[in-house]
Amino acid sequence: MLILDLNNLCAMDTEAIVIRIKTPSGDMDSSVDCPSLLNFNDLLVAIRDVMPEATVTAFEYEDEVGDRITVRSDEELKAMLSYYYNTMSEQRMNGMLPDPLQIFPRAGKTPGIRNIHGLKVNTRPNPANDCSHAVPDSMANNRSVHLCCVPSPSLKKSSAELKRILTNGQINAQDINYQEQLGHGNGGTVYKAYHLLGKRVLAVKVIPLDITVELQKQIMSELEILYKCDSPYIITFFSAFFVENRISICTEFMDGGSLDVYKIIPEHVLGRIAVAVVKGLTYLWSLKILHRDVKPSNMLVNTRGQVKLCDFGVSTQLVNSIAKTYVGTNAYMAPERISGEQYGIHADVWSVGISFMELALGMFPYPQIQKNQGSLMPLQLLQCIVDEDPPVFPVGEFSEKFVHFITQCMRRQPKERPAPNNLMEHAFIVQFNDGNAEVVSMWVCRCLEERRSQQGHV
Ligand code: ATP
Ligand code: MG
Repeated sequence: MLILDLNNLCAMDTEAIVIRIKTPSGDMDSSVDCPSLLNFNDLLVAIRDVMPEATVTAFEYEDEVGDRITVRSDEELKAMLSYYYNTMSEQRMNGMLPDPLQIFPRAGKTPGIRNIHGLKVNTRPNPANDCSHAVPDSMANNRSVHLCCVPSPSLKKSSAELKRILTNGQINAQDINYQEQLGHGNGGTVYKAYHLLGKRVLAVKVIPLDITVELQKQIMSELEILYKCDSPYIITFFSAFFVENRISICTEFMDGGSLDVYKIIPEHVLGRIAVAVVKGLTYLWSLKILHRDVKPSNMLVNTRGQVKLCDFGVSTQLVNSIAKTYVGTNAYMAPERISGEQYGIHADVWSVGISFMELALGMFPYPQIQKNQGSLMPLQLLQCIVDEDPPVFPVGEFSEKFVHFITQCMRRQPKERPAPNNLMEHAFIVQFNDGNAEVVSMWVCRCLEERRSQQGHV
């Protein structure tokens, strides 16, 4: 008899997952924003899109001892998701990044004519499909809503083709028209640029790296995972290429820039930003990627009210090569990282806490740490983060929910910080998880306007 864990089914409403379709020609990862709306047929159509040559009638997943369990109906699909959510929360409780949900398509014996009506699941990432917004019952049967994001066409490229694109650059250096400098960080310089062929504005981060060609190749192959990142809360990656000893990383341009240049952010705006940041991180964690550099300058906003994360550490080689040039410790790092211990998801959660505390106060929460020259500091200066109790908010200035959220994220013991499920379910996040991008949009526009008029008066 099937007993479904109702708590886990509730988690399905809020948490995106990654389904890895295991095919003979390789793995295919798909992000599903709203697993509770997923049904068996939609998933089957998605599998058939990926494996048009096979007659897939069902699929299997593996239980904890490796036995294969077949899924042929909506009910069995729900049981699989419930099982998966249990596994995921156990992995997270142990500070591990959850594995994607692996499914193994099962082909029927007789080939037949399939999909004769040419039905397609929505295969393009589309903000309108962001299932964080309440989906009215009347839409619950709408095919495009069920599977929010199945493999994008780029995922269908073979690994060799991807490598070629990455090595040569889908975007060539000579097709980029550099405009103003957007900022300069510890690793490199970011420019606003125009891609002449693609006719779009880009942000190009240029990082000088004196490394061998072997290491360059390794970085390129590590960056391949960026093609798989497909979330409205993660900056879109277009291409990366080396010219001589510089790597250029081309991403989507965000016209509101990063949050570090905004002054105090009011709580009703900060709440919506926090929802996007938590969703972006939950997505990365579901891909087994730790961000490793959560801080206000890596949270970008635009005038449409979107909030996206950038600069997460997908390439160990890139991170190591930059670290060799720029020595110092990041002030947003969790105490366990500062002291050189092992760390996991919980370390990203600490960085969320300290970042949002700074954004609410308009200053770095440890008054003894002054960040005049970016976020890298000598290790000794950051020792107070390891030794002292975490900072507290001034009494009465912020809501109880917000104060509780920050306090929980900044618990000194990593395991006492909220796990991803708990983050999404925290009252502060729930309160602002209303999909109201208008609030952020209006605030960004107003701040940009103020900045422009101040510049005009200088
Ligand atoms: P670090 O090097 O430690 O990450 P940082 O985040 O401040 O520090 P960069 O990542 O080099 O430095 O970014 C510099 C600045 O460029 C950012 O602070 C931000 O204002 C701007 N920027 C980066 N990416 C984009 C983007 N995609 N769209 C718009 N502005 C961006
Ligand atoms: Mg950055």
